[in-house]
Amino acid sequence: MTLKLFKHGRIYTPLTGRDPAAGGEQGKLAFYEDGCFLVDNGQFAAVGAMADVEKCLEDRCPDQEFDLEGAAVIPGFVDPHTHACFAARRETEFSMRLEGKSYLEILKAGGGILSSVRSVRSASDQELFDFSRALLASTLFYGTTTIEIKSGYGLDTETELRMLRVIDRLGRETPQTVVPTFMGAHAVPEEFKDNPEGYVSLLREDMLPAIAEQGIARFCDIFCEEGVFSVEQSRRVLQRAREWGFRLKVHADEVHDLGGAAMAGEMRAVSAEHLLAASDAGIAAMAKEGVVAVLLPATAYSLRKPFARARTMIEKGVPVALATDLNPGSCFCESMPFVFSLAVMGMELTPEEALTASTLNAAWAIGMSREAGSIEPGKMADFLVLDGETPAVFAYASGARPIRSVWKLGECVA
Ligand SMILES: [Zn+2]
Repeated sequence: MTLKLFKHGRIYTPLTGRDPAAGGEQGKLAFYEDGCFLVDNGQFAAVGAMADVEKCLEDRCPDQEFDLEGAAVIPGFVDPHTHACFAARRETEFSMRLEGKSYLEILKAGGGILSSVRSVRSASDQELFDFSRALLASTLFYGTTTIEIKSGYGLDTETELRMLRVIDRLGRETPQTVVPTFMGAHAVPEEFKDNPEGYVSLLREDMLPAIAEQGIARFCDIFCEEGVFSVEQSRRVLQRAREWGFRLKVHADEVHDLGGAAMAGEMRAVSAEHLLAASDAGIAAMAKEGVVAVLLPATAYSLRKPFARARTMIEKGVPVALATDLNPGSCFCESMPFVFSLAVMGMELTPEEALTASTLNAAWAIGMSREAGSIEPGKMADFLVLDGETPAVFAYASGARPIRSVWKLGECVA
């Protein structure tokens, strides 16, 4: 048991416990100007003004003391949407996109997700692990202390299971907390090109039971999009996933407004993600059912598309979260600071709203808000010491890494 006292920090944190913050609450943070906090055995034990925290100490003496020298301190970033388990980059395809080929055109030409499927299927477990571990190390450097990783480059039962086992190993062998999501419904694989219904059956009858049995994924996600899975197919896959005990996520209305956001509301999914083309009706359905919007502005940036309507979502009472969408195709972005900066400069979130979106609301989107997402007693002592006085430094110093140090479970890890 080690007891660590951190003092003289400018502490900014959401302070709502485990619940997500929506509407006007999203921009409300607790702020301690000359704040300090106590870390007991890797967890926050107290936070506030020096006098209050000293009271908590009673007659115990900290094993170590750290002077934060007036730097801003925020909770560690939670990245609730990544595809950070793959075996090769796709830079050539990025050049094709710059020449004007659309994402769906590249998908039809056998590129896109399907080229990652080929490289993941032919990689060994160790190769897949090594490649992904390097990605995770980079996200940690940029302040991500909890990360969700989706499968979805296997698209057959065996390879999806293999990916989830690699994701599980990443959680055990890297400093970060890793939350696994099963996304066998990421694309229709080549062998089912002429029989997509056959693949929906494989998902429902074979993959979901096999993955549930191994207990290695908490969430089930689906790419509900024109040319991928229809709303009706998505509903059938998600219904079966729910029967097997998965919590639900939906890649919804990224390219076209198919009604994915409304379907996420109807299915009581935890989150709907992307939402670049989400309609007013879809946003209303999400607000009604408390579905969190996981927005991925680095993907919109990388695809040169308009950003999601974050302001409307906040005004309508949808809790908004932010994520990188780190993947080899549409968005090779490892940096939550960059996402934060895009959210403020491009989607017009206030820095306070962006902070809640990239910590507490992000944690809630992946079922981790009891353990992560704020500097509150009982949560993991995951925090960032910033090279700046306020969280706005991420937008002020856009493209930089205004982070002095990254702490996970009370240990300095980057
Ligand atoms: Zn995604």
